[in-house]
Amino acid sequence: MTWNAMMPFEPIAKGYRSGFVALVGRPNVGKSTLVNKLVGEKVAITSPIAQTTRNKLRGIISTSNAQLILVDTPGIHKPHHLLGERLVKSACSAIGDVDVVLFLVEGDKPPGKGDAFIAQLLKQKRVPTLIVLNKWDLVSKEQSESREEIYKKLFKETQWPIYKCSAKEGYGCDLLITALSNELPIGPQLYPPEMVCDQPERLIIAELIREQVLKYTREEIPHSVAVNVERIQEVKNNNKSAKGKTINAILATILVEKKSQKGILIGKGGSMLKDIGQGARIQIQNLIDGPVYLELFVKLVPNWRSKPGRLSELGYLGE
Ligand code: GDP
Ligand code: MG
Repeated sequence: MTWNAMMPFEPIAKGYRSGFVALVGRPNVGKSTLVNKLVGEKVAITSPIAQTTRNKLRGIISTSNAQLILVDTPGIHKPHHLLGERLVKSACSAIGDVDVVLFLVEGDKPPGKGDAFIAQLLKQKRVPTLIVLNKWDLVSKEQSESREEIYKKLFKETQWPIYKCSAKEGYGCDLLITALSNELPIGPQLYPPEMVCDQPERLIIAELIREQVLKYTREEIPHSVAVNVERIQEVKNNNKSAKGKTINAILATILVEKKSQKGILIGKGGSMLKDIGQGARIQIQNLIDGPVYLELFVKLVPNWRSKPGRLSELGYLGE
């Protein structure tokens, strides 16, 4: 809950550090995967939120001597469109207010134009920066030395330290957390240590579903509808063509105040709910950049709007 963010959590060790880390890099270098790996669990659906002004996803790491708040940056969906502009925009907005930048490149490939471009941008920003050669699991022993040399050369004048890691397998991640912690200023815990994510995506998903409800029902179901995302789970995709890949299974409840509204929302033989679900599923898939299985329920809760517990459950935290 957001109010937690305002409160320091005592006691903490002397010399405790805390602050914000932005993960920056070309699409597909593994930023979201690394956020999840560093945090230790799937904090959120990966690849958030291109082209929206919503909050960025934040993963939270709490160790005995530091708290790191990781800001993932949006994926760029159509690289052939306005690539430069979007790279600038997403990278700039991410590094505006952070204490340190983690600049990811694909270590298993030689540097590309995008990497040099981002490096140029970071140089102007003068934020402490660490370079990560990710996907190091894909680099063979024979290759590794020369590959590292290429990147050292590319970033030579910056004096940014270079680390190697595998966001997928976890190699190098502990070292990275220590290195990042050392770059943060002395400061208190900003979130309770058990929190791993500030979870805005849950609310965004709820909003996307609510949007479809409004789209399909027009004036019939006005403000008395609310959506609660109960569960987001990564499960095996049973679809034959998916070959064991995972899918995000989302369970959400649509709350209504009147029995008649429930009838409208479900529709004849469930047809309305099906349309809403289809529409929302497409939106959510765009948002998280991966397949989604969406299960919707309609629940009658008379006067939910005047129940404080219900309201905060739904993310309305009061004025
Ligand atoms: P982002 O666009 O930078 O957020 O990249 P993602 O985190 O979505 O990752 C893009 C793809 O690279 C996914 O298929 C990941 O599974 C894969 N990937 C990420 N990190 C690694 C890694 O360290 N090793 C390998 N082999 N694959 C990785
Ligand atoms: Mg991503």
